Amino acid sequence: AKENGGNGLELYMPSLGSRNDERFTMETGLRRALDRGEFSLLFQPQFHLATGELYGAEALLRWETPEGRQIPPCEFIPLAEETGLIIPIGQWVLEQACLACKRWYDNGHTSLIVSVNISALQFQSDLFPDAVRQVLRQTGTDPTRLCLEITEYTAVQNLERSIRILKELAGIGVKFAIDDFGTGQSQLVLLRKFPAHHIKIDTTFIRDMMEQPDDEAIVRAVIGLSHSLGLTVTAEGVETEGQMHKLRQMNCDRIQGYYTGRPMTSSQFKAWTKRLNLA
Ligand code: C2E
Ligand code: CA
Ligand code: CA
Ligand code: CA
Repeated sequence: AKENGGNGLELYMPSLGSRNDERFTMETGLRRALDRGEFSLLFQPQFHLATGELYGAEALLRWETPEGRQIPPCEFIPLAEETGLIIPIGQWVLEQACLACKRWYDNGHTSLIVSVNISALQFQSDLFPDAVRQVLRQTGTDPTRLCLEITEYTAVQNLERSIRILKELAGIGVKFAIDDFGTGQSQLVLLRKFPAHHIKIDTTFIRDMMEQPDDEAIVRAVIGLSHSLGLTVTAEGVETEGQMHKLRQMNCDRIQGYYTGRPMTSSQFKAWTKRLNLA
C-alpha cells in the first residue's frame, strides 16, 4: 500500500529527503574541511574616525569546497555550532588570526588589533580561557593586540561565568567587543554588568540611519550611552561617505564597512597602509 499509494506522500517525501541529504553532505564536508585545508580567513579593515588611521581588522571565515563552491558563513556557522565542530574550527580561526597579527606586528605595524568572532559554544567551553592563552603563547602574539567579539546572546547565556571569563582574559590584556549590538533581545543591564571594552553597532542601524530618524537617534544614543559607560564604539556596515561623516559628527570611535574596505587576505591587508581621507 505504501509502495504504490498515490496520495501525494511520495511527491512530498523526496523533496524532504533531498533537503536532509544536502544537510548531511554539508555536515560531512564540514567535518573534513579543516583537515583538507578548505578554510581561509579574510580580514576587513577598521579605522579610527578621529584620525583616519588604521585600527586593525576583523577576521572573517571563508569555506571553499573541493568543487569550488563558496559556502557563506551564515550557512555553515549555524551547522558548525549545532554539531560542536565550531570548537575545533574556532580554535583554528583564533590561531590563524593571531599568526596574521604577529606577522603585521613583525612588519612594523605594532598597533594593529585583530578581532576574532567567538561563538557561544566556544566561549562557554571550559577549555576556552586556556585555549586563548595557549594560542597567544604559541604564536607569540601580544595579548593586547587581540579583541574577542561575542554577541549579547553569548554573554547572557551564563552571565556570571561570562563575566569571570572576561575578567580572566582582560587581566592579561585581551579586549572584548559586544558584537551586533542592538539586535536580538538587548539587555541594557549587560552593559553595566559585563565589563567589555567595545560595542559594535549592528549593520542594520547604520544601513537605515540616513533615511530613518529613529535609527539615527538609536545610533546617537548607543554612542552616548557607551561613552558614558567607558566603552568605545565601532559602526559596522558603513557603505557610504555620508554615513562616515554622520558617524564622525556623532563621535563614533571607529568604522568598518565596504566604504573603507572589503574583507581581504592577510597579505593584501598587510600591504594596505591606507589612511582615511576625512576632509
Ligand atoms: P559579523 O561578525 O557581524 O561580521 C560582519 C559581516 O558583515 C561580515 O559578513 C562582513 O563581510 C559583512 N560586511 C562588512 N562590511 C559590510 C558592508 O559595508 N555592508 C554589508 N552589507 N555587509 C558588510 P560575513 O563575512 O559573511 O560573516 C557573517 C557572519 O558570520 C559574521 O557576522 C559572524 O557572525 C559569522 N562569522 C564569520 N566568521 C566567523 C568566525 O570565524 N567564527 C564565528 N563564530 N563566526 C564567524
Ligand atoms: Ca563580528
Ligand atoms: Ca557584527
Ligand atoms: Ca552579524
